Amino acid sequence: MNNDIEEVLFDQDQIHQAAARIGQQITRDFDGHRPLFLSVLKGAYLWTADVLRQVDLYADLEFIKISSYHGGVESSDEIELVTDIRREVADRDVIILEDIVDTGQSLLFLKDLLAQRGARSIQVACLLDKKGGRKVDVTADYVGFDVRNEFVVGYGLDYAESYRNLPYVGVLKPSVYAK
Ligand code: 5GP
Ligand code: MG
Repeated sequence: MNNDIEEVLFDQDQIHQAAARIGQQITRDFDGHRPLFLSVLKGAYLWTADVLRQVDLYADLEFIKISSYHGGVESSDEIELVTDIRREVADRDVIILEDIVDTGQSLLFLKDLLAQRGARSIQVACLLDKKGGRKVDVTADYVGFDVRNEFVVGYGLDYAESYRNLPYVGVLKPSVYAK
């Protein structure tokens, strides 16, 4: 699997440092509150574990599953709610944990959903921000790293369901897509 990677962009140490920076910032920003962390499956599973271990607050954790990609390397415009949460979000301070924000459509979908359900505040903490990919106007509040407009894998992010278990974020060799 490692042989499919052309370039490592962010290694585990760098990602842990980013998670610590953001976890500590959230701890300060939500002092005295009990936020509801909403982790977006599957991509955010490692990022969620890293950030939450750096948050010194009483908090709730829920997992939601949405799908935007359908196996390829381009975002689709259709967002589907695959697995919903069962917890009330009315009057809650929600912090969405995402792997990457690209076109922004997934995030907008989630923010609209939470707003409809009466969330008091909605913040976003993403591992990666691909600002050059935006199609809708949405921003993340806590960003691990900015990335160029290229397809990345690892640390939760997949290509055709593989590479989620790579301990770093990297760029695939073009030959992998050609297969
Ligand atoms: P958006 O709706 O912002 O276009 O895309 C968000 C979702 O698309 C992310 O949560 C992620 O699952 C997927 N995605 C966007 N860019 C990439 C990328 O470079 N690599 C991978 N593996 N997934 C991506
Ligand atoms: Mg995702």
